[in-house]
Amino acid sequence: MNLIECTNLGLQYNRNQVVRDLSFAVEQGTYLCIVGENGSGKSTLLKCLLGLKKQFCGQVTFAPGFGREKIGYLPQKTEVQQDFPATVEEIVSSGLLGRDKKRLFYTKEQKKQVQEQLERLEIADLSKTDFRELSGGQQQRVLLARALIAATQMLILDEPANGLDPMVTAELYRIIDEKNQQGMTVVMVSHDIETALHAARHVLYLAEDTYFFGTKSEYIHSPLFRRFLGGNA
Ligand code: ADP
Repeated sequence: MNLIECTNLGLQYNRNQVVRDLSFAVEQGTYLCIVGENGSGKSTLLKCLLGLKKQFCGQVTFAPGFGREKIGYLPQKTEVQQDFPATVEEIVSSGLLGRDKKRLFYTKEQKKQVQEQLERLEIADLSKTDFRELSGGQQQRVLLARALIAATQMLILDEPANGLDPMVTAELYRIIDEKNQQGMTVVMVSHDIETALHAARHVLYLAEDTYFFGTKSEYIHSPLFRRFLGGNA
């Protein structure tokens, strides 16, 4: 079953077309990696899936029973306010806000959920620490915990390893892999094709003039992959 289907999608800023005639689907339980050249529209596409950017043509269709409230999103680091005055616990808890807009306070059950998420990501000892005092790796872990608590069916990540050292990156990917193995659908933008391919089940490659969508094995045998490796497409 496809949770999201995009058909003949077109995205633009001020008449400047970024994505044209793009069709692909996000299958339930898949690990979709969106890769491609800088400026090819990867982040813009994620924003469209999240309802933060409206398409100017084409359709985005959600499966019955699936909606944006079931998605957890980890935005690109550059778009996160690094100087946000809140504790780790407050930031992770805010991942629950989209679920019940009428409720002003967190329930006992929700507080327990936050505590469990903090423990799972091994940041429980930082729960009362100010987000601004954390290292880059710790901040990313907190934001991943926030996205994970929001994600009941789908996790969308935009360059989650940006600016992290290799050890922290490997750990971050391990947590995401584990969630995927437990049934979470993952959509991840990454410029690190090799690592992305390690985990991916489906690949969407965006280039300026074309795109590829298919399984990982189809991608590896495609002319676009050869182009990426430096050969002729
Ligand atoms: P990628 O994630 O693949 O690097 P983006 O989706 O960030 O690409 O950007 C695609 C194109 O859209 C780029 O040319 C970028 O300059 C442009 N763009 C991105 N955001 C905006 C914006 N808010 N306003 C105008 N142009 C934008």
